Amino acid sequence: MNYRINSSDIPNREARNSRYKRRCKSEIPIDEYVNSMGDSKYDATVIETLFNIKDTKCAICLDVLNQPTITSCKHIFCKECIRQSLRHKNECPCCREAITFESLSLLGQPKNKKEFSVRQNATTTSFVTACEHGYLNEVKEYIESGKVTDVNMKGSRSNGWEGYTGLMMAARFERLDVVKYLLSQTMIDVSIADDTVGWNALHCACYNNKKSMEILTLLLDHQTCTEKVINATDDVGRTPLDKAFYNNKSDLKSDIIKFMKAHGALQRNELERGRTHHYHKTNTSRYILQII
Ligand code: ZN
Ligand code: ZN
Repeated sequence: MNYRINSSDIPNREARNSRYKRRCKSEIPIDEYVNSMGDSKYDATVIETLFNIKDTKCAICLDVLNQPTITSCKHIFCKECIRQSLRHKNECPCCREAITFESLSLLGQPKNKKEFSVRQNATTTSFVTACEHGYLNEVKEYIESGKVTDVNMKGSRSNGWEGYTGLMMAARFERLDVVKYLLSQTMIDVSIADDTVGWNALHCACYNNKKSMEILTLLLDHQTCTEKVINATDDVGRTPLDKAFYNNKSDLKSDIIKFMKAHGALQRNELERGRTHHYHKTNTSRYILQII
C-alpha cells in the first residue's frame, strides 16, 4: 500500500488562516469602524466608548479590554472572552441579542492614528472645557444626551494639558452651578487625581478658590470625599491644605485653611512626621456658622 500523502491534502497555514478568517471577521481599524457608524444616540454612546477604549472594561472578565472585539449589537469584549462565551450560547452577554462568531469584528489600531487621536480627544475635551468655563447647559447636554457616559472621564483642559475631569476644572475655576450639577450625578468621584500633577478636586479648589467656601463645602460633604482624599498627596507630595497654604493668594486663604483643618486636613510635613490625628469629619454647615 502506498502511504504517501498527496501534499495538497495537508491543510497549509494559509488555508487554515482563511478558514479562521471565515469564522471571525478580519480585523478592522478602529477609526474605520467609527466612520462606518450611524448618528443615533446609541451609536454616539458606542463611539464615546471606542474613543475611550483604553479605559474600557470588558463586561465578561471585568478587566481592561484585551484585543477588543465588537459584536453586531455593538457591545465590546475581549476577543477571547466573547469567543468563549459564544461557545456556550450564541447570544450577546450584555443584551442577549443572537450573535455569531462571524459577526464579531476585532478592532485594530487606527489607520489614521493622528486624526483618530484628535477626534478621540474632541468629545472628552469639549466636556471638560465646558466644565472649566462653567457652561452648565452644555455640560448637561453632554450628560443627558448620553454623549458622555462617564461623568469622571478625563480630557484636556483648555490649555491643552491632558488628564483632567470636569469636576476638577469646575472646582478650580469656581463654576459653582457646574460643581453642584456634577456632584448630583450618582457616579461622580471627588477622589480622582489628574494625570499631569496628581491633584484631586480638593487640590484644585484649595489652590484657586477666592469667591466663596461653597465649592469646598460641597466637595467635603460628598460621600466620596474621605480622609484619604482630604490628605491625598500630589506628584510632589503636596496635600490640598498645602495648595491653600502655598498657592492661594486670595482673601479666602485663611478661611480655607481653617476649614480644611477642621476636616482633618494636614500639610505634607505633618503627614511625613506621621503624626496621628483623630479628626472627626465635622458638620460643615455648623463649622461655617462658627467662622462667620
Ligand atoms: Zn474580557
Ligand atoms: Zn449586545
